[in-house]
Amino acid sequence: SEDSNSIYEPQKVAIIGAGPVGALAALYFAKGGWQVTVYELRGDLRNPENRSLNFTKSINLAISERGINGLRTVDPDLTEMILESAIPMNGRMIHDIAGKQSSQRYDVHGRFIRSIDRSYLNGALLDELDQMSNVELKFNHNLKRLSLERSEATFERRLPSGETETIRVNADLFIGADGAHSQTRYHMMKYVRLNFSQEYIDSLWCEFHMPPCSKTGDFQLDPNHLHIWPRQTFMFIALPNQDKSFTCTLFMPEEMFKDIVGPEALLKFFLTEFPDVVPLIGEENLIGDYLKNQKLPLISVKCNPYHYRNKCVIIGDAAHAMVPFYGQGMNCGFEDVRVLWSHISAHSSLTTALESYTSERHKDLHVINDLAMNNYVEMRASVTSTTYLLKKGFQEFLYSWFPWMGVRTLYSMISFSNISYGEVVRRVKRQERVLGFVAQVFIVGVLGGLGWWVWKGGWWREVWNEGLLVGKEWMEEAVRYIDG
Ligand code: FAD
Repeated sequence: SEDSNSIYEPQKVAIIGAGPVGALAALYFAKGGWQVTVYELRGDLRNPENRSLNFTKSINLAISERGINGLRTVDPDLTEMILESAIPMNGRMIHDIAGKQSSQRYDVHGRFIRSIDRSYLNGALLDELDQMSNVELKFNHNLKRLSLERSEATFERRLPSGETETIRVNADLFIGADGAHSQTRYHMMKYVRLNFSQEYIDSLWCEFHMPPCSKTGDFQLDPNHLHIWPRQTFMFIALPNQDKSFTCTLFMPEEMFKDIVGPEALLKFFLTEFPDVVPLIGEENLIGDYLKNQKLPLISVKCNPYHYRNKCVIIGDAAHAMVPFYGQGMNCGFEDVRVLWSHISAHSSLTTALESYTSERHKDLHVINDLAMNNYVEMRASVTSTTYLLKKGFQEFLYSWFPWMGVRTLYSMISFSNISYGEVVRRVKRQERVLGFVAQVFIVGVLGGLGWWVWKGGWWREVWNEGLLVGKEWMEEAVRYIDG
């Protein structure tokens, strides 16, 4: 019954997926007194043998305010510990084709995003869960079926022998945190009229490793920047790691990947497009990584609603996989968990809590999905355009000198605040209208002032009379010419 789902009675929750978002959700529910079981398809990523199984995700990622807030709200100490191993990135470092580097800071007030090792972050959350008596972690469990009317999930469990067995479990609530190709979402669709769309962009991504300097053992590039080599239709980026290496990613249209066949073509491509990268990674490593590492697709998923009655809810990539160009995928997933928990805490019935979660969240999630898509153009092309730099400079000037005006760049509000994504976009639109008006007033003022100055100076009369005389002479000349 509805009452039996009151948050005041600890319930049984089954979380599908022990990625970063599923692990964080487990922490929130466990601390809230629920009986939590996490089911994960893969083996435990803390076991080095299982690491390679997870290589469909970038090795490191950028964590920013929303992600940190999601962590901090449930466990400030753990957050401190995790952030100690993160590397601050104060801005973008743009590398042009001649190898010139120019820094574009992220925030006039010195706020920064951080580069963090994905496995470390995920592992730290799992370690924390291991210590809680009301949490069970079950690896090698693949969700196969979800019968929400019977509150029953069926998993295929992979045994060490390689054989599999079928396991059925019951829970009061199922949380799908099983990524972009979510099985939970697929099964939930049978119960609820779930609108769903997915889009693959034409670019793929491939990772490279830039080792520390062989002589000094130090970083080969400034570690406090996210490095970008923007080349209009494709780009190369690098994020720093604790061991003083960089993890680099090439984002490029599939057709271009297809054209690069074999080591020679690859070297030629890099020497033409990213000549400064070749000595930093080394020819051999560059070729090795390119041939060995997968060229993976990028998917964007939108859906609505995210829940079915009081039985099931999907979060993280399962609900809103996005292209990685705003560095928000996981951050947004962590925000999902914080927002979901705030709804659960605020309602005495789980059904209304999940309903209000869906209704608040779906507008924000669609917004960030679109922003992430648009930011690909910004990263690979706009960052080098004068208009973009002028606009950014003007907004930052206002933010820095006239903070009361509340003008902030879109990037700053997305990455360094917890203002809902939807509200951020509304503010930016408002701000652009106001700034457009201010710019018009400014231009009219300048032109008016100039006119007044010329008029008052009086010297315009001389210029005017001179102009009249010249005009008159031209006319007379023309008349003489016509008369023959
Ligand atoms: P996932 O990380 O996909 O985890 C899902 C888990 O569910 C996995 O462990 C999987 O094994 C498990 N699972 C799947 N199916 C089943 C099943 N049937 N049964 C049981 N378990 C199952 N985000 C950022 O915030 N910042 C960044 O800088 C950033 N950079 C990125 C760079 C790249 C190249 C890419 C591809 C993504 C990037 N992201 C970034 C996005 C980020 O990786 C994702 O948003 C994040 O991993 C989502 O976490 P999740 O836990 O929801 O899903």
